[in-house]
This record gives sequence, structure tokens and C-alpha cells, in this order.
Amino acid sequence: MKYEDSKAASGEILRMVIPAMAAHNAACHPVSYAVWYEYFSARNARLRAELDPRLQRGDILEEGDIAQLFEHHVSGPHETTVRRLYEEFRKLVSDVSVCAQQAGAEAGEYAQSLDAAAQRLETLGDDPVLQSLIRELVDGAARMRRSVGGLEDRLAASGRQINELREALAQAQNEALIDPLTGLVNRRGFDTALQELIDAGDAGASGACLLMVDIDHFKRINDAHGHVVGDKVIRAVAQVLKNGVKGRDTVARYGGEEFSVLLPATPLAGACALAEQLRLTVERGRIRRADNREAVASVTVSVGVTALRAGEPIEEFVQRADAALYASKQNGRNRVTARPFGAPAAAAVA
Ligand code: GH3
Ligand code: MG
Ligand code: MG
Repeated sequence: MKYEDSKAASGEILRMVIPAMAAHNAACHPVSYAVWYEYFSARNARLRAELDPRLQRGDILEEGDIAQLFEHHVSGPHETTVRRLYEEFRKLVSDVSVCAQQAGAEAGEYAQSLDAAAQRLETLGDDPVLQSLIRELVDGAARMRRSVGGLEDRLAASGRQINELREALAQAQNEALIDPLTGLVNRRGFDTALQELIDAGDAGASGACLLMVDIDHFKRINDAHGHVVGDKVIRAVAQVLKNGVKGRDTVARYGGEEFSVLLPATPLAGACALAEQLRLTVERGRIRRADNREAVASVTVSVGVTALRAGEPIEEFVQRADAALYASKQNGRNRVTARPFGAPAAAAVA
């Protein structure tokens, strides 16, 4: 059981949760309760790290926000746990296939040597006792061969089944990393890509940059045109980002209307130029409503850019890009801000 707080301790948390639920727009349902419970019980550092700055900014959480916080930080198994389980299962499956193949091969060899021995015995003379012994051995060898043949067939069938399972598992794991609205990788997929880049050492992490991209005043777009148009805007921005980067780069839907772009082997100046180009493309794009062809006015994005410093924790890298994005918002939105490692303050690019 995940929650083991005493009745008194959980009662204390309940007293903090209720005013929090009342102060935000999301309804007071169990999903909302779970998010706030985890937040106030201080058991979920990642949830706190995401929520604290938003609360300090005075953000009011909507249904979509609570759903995302729940999905990212409460419900989903931690990404590393999923990966570890997957690796363990993959190893188990591969060990079993190797054992099965070895057992099949050894049984086949045994049947063959029994056959050969029986054939040699047949040439040894016509003593009736010996002959009957030989017949028993030949019959035994035949029975052995039939049963080994059956065993081999069953092992081959199990091997095929194991392979099918392995493929289904790989596919399910891939799907769990994809955001259905945009087809981009989701937050978990991004975390995985970033971890892989770090694990690759110098070959991957050297000179990597990160962009955090957030749609400006998206709430207004939702309010003015509704969620269906809002979703269309999210898809359109995703498309601009996807079209604007190279194959080795990773574009992810980091959260609701926020994206991250991971750029391996890219200098900060190059990452800033790309960010500016993406910002401009979004600004110049026209998104039309499907119903009355009316253009959705002023869709813009703010961007934060930073470069990875060798050996630094992933969280610091992401937080620095986030801080740069925050500076873009503070300075009027629809702009790019770079924050190099160790910079005292964010430097505006455009
Ligand atoms: P800012 O310029 O400061 O980023 O303002 P904002 O309005 O874009 O930011 P805020 O975080 O206040 O609001 C984001 C909104 O995005 C709130 C949330 O309901 C909405 N949202 C999140 N995910 C989705 C989604 O998948 N579809 C739609 N239509 N809206 C979403
Ligand atoms: Mg926004
Ligand atoms: Mg946002």
C-alpha cells in the first residue's frame, strides 16, 4: 500500500488539502485529492518541484493541470522502475530461450547416439537373448526419438511465443512514451532520451542544448475558441517544432502547452538561432478554426535556452532552461532567452 500515514497524520494533511482544492478551479474529485495529498504529505519531490513555482506565481490549477500532475507525478510508475522491470523481463525471456534451445539440441544429440549404438549392437550375433535385448534397445531408442521430437516442437512453439511477447512488450513500451495528441514523445519519453544522451557520455552529452517552449496566453486561446481549437493550436506548434529540427534532435510535449527540444552536439549560439527561427515561424503561422475558417489570433511562444555542462545533474539542466523560459515570460513573452551555465541573470536574445 502506497499510503501508510496514521489516521492523525492523514487528518492533518486533509486539513491542508481542502482549502487548496477550494482555491483552484479543478473539481474536488479523488484525482485532485491524490495530487494535493501527495503534495502536502511531502512524499513526492518531483511534484513539489513542479508545483511550488506555479503556486508562487499564483497559478490557478484547472482540470487539465491536475490531470497532468496526476499522470506525471502520482499515477504513472516511475520511468526508471518501468525501465528496470522491462530490462529484467527481457533478460529472463532471453535466458529461457537460450536454455530451451540448449535442451532441445542436447536431447536431439542423445537420440542420435542411442540410434547409432542400437545399430552397432544388431551386428553382434544371433544369440536370442542378445537379440531380444537389442530389440528392446531399438524400440526404446525409437520411443526416445519420438518423445524428443515432440519436446523440440513444443520448445520451438514456446520460442515463437516468447518472441511475440517480446515484440508486444517493446511496442507497449514505445506507446507509453508517445503523446497521442501530437505524436511527439511525452515527458517520460523526453526523460528517457535525455538520460540516454547523458549515459552516452562525451559522444552524446558534449555540447548538448535544451529549449523549453511554452505557448503564450494559451488559456486565452482556450477561453476564446474552446478546447478543440486549443488542441489544434497545440498540434500546429508541435508540427512547427518537428519540422524545424534535425533527425537526431528530440522534440517532446513536456506538459499541456509546453514543449522541450533536446539538441545533441549543438553550441548555445546555434541553439539560440534555432529557437529564434522556431519562435518566428510560430508567430507568422496562421491557424484557422475548422468551423468558420476564422484565424486564431496571435499564437506565439516563449522560449528558454541553455547548454548542458558536463557532469551536472539533469535537474539543474532542465531547471536552467525553465528559468530562461520564465524570464522570457516575465519580459513580455514571444521571445527567446538564453541562460548559459553559471550566468548570474538570463540574457535576452530577442
Ligand atoms: P503563459 O503565457 O504564462 O504561459 O500563460 P498560459 O495561459 O499559456 O499558461 P497557463 O499555464 O496559465 O495555462 C495553460 C492552459 O493550458 C491551462 C490548461 O487548462 C491548458 N491546457 C493544458 N493542456 C491542454 C490540452 O491538452 N488541450 C487544451 N485545449 N488545453 C490545455
Ligand atoms: Mg503557456
Ligand atoms: Mg505552461
